[in-house]
Amino acid sequence: MKKLALHWKILIGMVLGIIFGFIMNTIEGGKGFVTDWISPFGTIFINLLKLIAVPLILASLIKGISDLKDISKIKKMGLRTISIYIGTTLVAIIIGLGIVNLVKPGTGMSADTIEKIKAKYENSTDVTDKLTKATAQNDAGPLQALVDIFPSNIFQSFVDASMLQVIFFAMFVGISLLLISEKKAKPLMDFFDSLNEMVMKMVDLIMLFAPYAVFALLANVIIAFDDTEILLKLLVYALCVVGGLVLMIVFYLFLVAVYTKKSPMWFLKQISPAQLLAFSTSSSAATLPVTMERVEEHLGVDKEVSGFVLPVGATINMDGTSLYQGIAAVFIMQVVWPEGATFSNQLVIIFTALLASIGSAAVPSAGMVMLVIVLESINFPAELLPIGLALIFAVDRPLDMCRTTVNVTGDATVSMIIAKSLDKLHEHPIEKNWDDNYDKVK
Ligand code: ASP
Repeated sequence: MKKLALHWKILIGMVLGIIFGFIMNTIEGGKGFVTDWISPFGTIFINLLKLIAVPLILASLIKGISDLKDISKIKKMGLRTISIYIGTTLVAIIIGLGIVNLVKPGTGMSADTIEKIKAKYENSTDVTDKLTKATAQNDAGPLQALVDIFPSNIFQSFVDASMLQVIFFAMFVGISLLLISEKKAKPLMDFFDSLNEMVMKMVDLIMLFAPYAVFALLANVIIAFDDTEILLKLLVYALCVVGGLVLMIVFYLFLVAVYTKKSPMWFLKQISPAQLLAFSTSSSAATLPVTMERVEEHLGVDKEVSGFVLPVGATINMDGTSLYQGIAAVFIMQVVWPEGATFSNQLVIIFTALLASIGSAAVPSAGMVMLVIVLESINFPAELLPIGLALIFAVDRPLDMCRTTVNVTGDATVSMIIAKSLDKLHEHPIEKNWDDNYDKVK
């Protein structure tokens, strides 16, 4: 498999994992085998990616900012990034609402199916867990999210992997380094430069394991599906979400082609390993190191831009999640609270889904927790919330995989646009391989 491109190796791993999962589903004891002996390898892979996320953000952002050598550029980059992120998220929500109102996936659902879904999921711990998490998030004051960005103990932020706190700290360090004399700043800048190189090498090394890890991750996803009947009943709803997500990808390709003048196919090819990992892990945070590596070394975005735009994007820019929330909220209303699906409520959804995209953690199924908050914002009857979540639960995992792929693609697209606008998009990026220096040390 030496000559095969990485994305092909990962794809083969995924397909084999899916087939293996289906086979294990039919064999007695197969599910237990996957859980005990296969799935841990997926967990190890995700752990390794998470392990390097904090040092990577720290090193690349401090290095990036101190390299910019110009505070006004940082301001420009920050404002542009946030504005474009808000813009693309609004497009996503509007696409989602357009589709769900056009197709109306919730109107034809039979009472029998609703009863079946209710019986199966309404009181399941998966659903009640999400409701509890949402209540905890909702009970916080209006400015709590802002307060949470400023850490009082950076080591605690590292331990908790609080992305926004780490980003804030790195920017604070980067800007302060810019404001001291070059001579005094140099040792620390060299240190972070070296740290950055080392962590990027770790990404290359971890990626050697990716094709095997996705096999484990997907086999594990497949064994979790048990009720194909319910899955089929939710097919129209799921297709609405997937259709919207595909449109979103087309929108990104359009932006890349028009603004950076790069070929959309080339963009997809370069970013595909990150997309495939986003799909397999359902976590933009876990995918972040790979997204950074692909964007810098394959798409040609300068570190100064990617170091800021990507970690911020992984945390606050979730176009796929917002699109999904728009569709899921209206779908649930169409089924259990049709009188609520008014135009004014949908305007509120646009606003709250935008905020939810900023507030959602970049981990599996976070979008479903924030969906509760979106629904509460339109005074969705509280007693119907468990039924609402039960309705969409069965297909949440595959949709999570798809929306995470879009979240990551959106971040990569915006980083290219920002890089182009600041003249920081390189024509010929330098690709580094894990074994570039291997001959010297083996
Ligand atoms: N899993 C998504 C992500 O990490 C968030 C979500 O939509 O649940 O980007």
